[in-house]
Amino acid sequence: MVKKMFPIGHFALGYTITIIILLATGLYKVIYRDIFVGCIGGFVAIFPDIHWILPEPYAYQVHLFHSSPWADICFLHYTIDTHVNDYDFFWPVLCIAIAIILTLALIHWDNRHKRCTLYDGKFSCKIK
Ligand SMILES: [Zn+2]
Repeated sequence: MVKKMFPIGHFALGYTITIIILLATGLYKVIYRDIFVGCIGGFVAIFPDIHWILPEPYAYQVHLFHSSPWADICFLHYTIDTHVNDYDFFWPVLCIAIAIILTLALIHWDNRHKRCTLYDGKFSCKIK
């Protein structure tokens, strides 16, 4: 029986791991939309839970994937779902808190390495 963590917790964990990878490798210095890349990681982590909202023939297929260890390729989705108590608040809130702290650190370090401007409705960034 696969248990469940709040999907927002999966999103926050995928986002956090992606941001940690960007920070640890220094890629955040050269990727302009690093927070957007973090959100892509979050959506990859939340993907197996999409079976909750898909129409039936597809929901069953994704649910089979969600209930198998293969779901671990989506930022350890299966492992987390099987080890966290049903709808436990602690882990999702911890993941969200870490994601917020990392986003603030990322914005701080972005300002050191990039100069982003919003001029005439156009957003642009240059590496300092
Ligand atoms: Zn799940």
